Amino acid sequence: MSGLAALGVHRVPVPVPFAEAGGPANVYVIEEDGGGLSLFDAGIGTREGRDALLAGFRALGRTLNEVRRIFVSHGHIDHYGYARAAQEESGAPVFAHPRDHDKLTGRDRTAQRLALYADYLSRLGAPLEILAHVRLHWQDAARMARPIEHVEPLAEGTRLRFARFSAEVLHLPGHTPGLVCLWVAEHGVLFSDDHLLERVSPNPLLDLEGQREPTHRALVEYVRSARRARDLPAQLVAPGHGEPFTGHVELIDRLLAFYDKRQARILELLGDGPLTAAQLAPRVFPRAQPTQLYLILSEVVGNLEVLEQRGSVHREERAGRVVFVRDVE
Ligand SMILES: [Zn+2]
Ligand SMILES: [Zn+2]
Repeated sequence: MSGLAALGVHRVPVPVPFAEAGGPANVYVIEEDGGGLSLFDAGIGTREGRDALLAGFRALGRTLNEVRRIFVSHGHIDHYGYARAAQEESGAPVFAHPRDHDKLTGRDRTAQRLALYADYLSRLGAPLEILAHVRLHWQDAARMARPIEHVEPLAEGTRLRFARFSAEVLHLPGHTPGLVCLWVAEHGVLFSDDHLLERVSPNPLLDLEGQREPTHRALVEYVRSARRARDLPAQLVAPGHGEPFTGHVELIDRLLAFYDKRQARILELLGDGPLTAAQLAPRVFPRAQPTQLYLILSEVVGNLEVLEQRGSVHREERAGRVVFVRDVE
């Protein structure tokens, strides 16, 4: 897209081996003052990911060892998976928001953390087979994203200067606790990574961040962040997957309306009496496959947390299980 090229930004899509991602992940190669380069996201650490990234660099007539800074938007392997290799090639520091550091360093994937998930998921009423999803996810990380030993903090409000523009770091939690976007106010460009995608909803997932009770209420935070992005006068959105697009206000309005409907459905189901999240999930998603249990449970918990915040639902602990109770309006 010429809009990005004029800013000295080159989009390099790299293939990702899972369909839910919404297509190849974008690495944005950004020209730095003095001739170096920055990366906004680093792609994935598979052979295909590396080949695509290196081919992209060759097409630009550049090399990885010209990279001076590596910015990671959020702690998912399709965005940070190649960062360690790019760092070894270039010596560049890796920056990410502190709330996602444990994902990049691998500290998020310990036996002790798995036990916290086992405890929380069983209190939600889920069968323990569901932990297979968490384990699979961690195995993917081990294969496609080498841990980064030292990650520098990237904080809300930081101004990043590049050769042809400067961008403000926006912390927009939801999709992950530490997700950041880059906002280029002078040109109306939002680098949105997975906060806003044209064709895929953001799948806010259960994320315990090493706590017994989640402090990250994924959908509550996502909705707040989406409203913040909606208020930006963006002319162009450069996403984490797919082509740059326009029309973020309509996109966000559609998404928020979709979540409102889902919450109305959950309230309707709770009209017959209290239920656990695991009892609700297959009723909200009758066509889901057993392998999708973690995703649909996350989605239901996210919506329940929004309803709790709104005062329409509250939770009670009964015999070691969390049940959700509809409150009369
Ligand atoms: Zn992604
Ligand atoms: Zn993501």
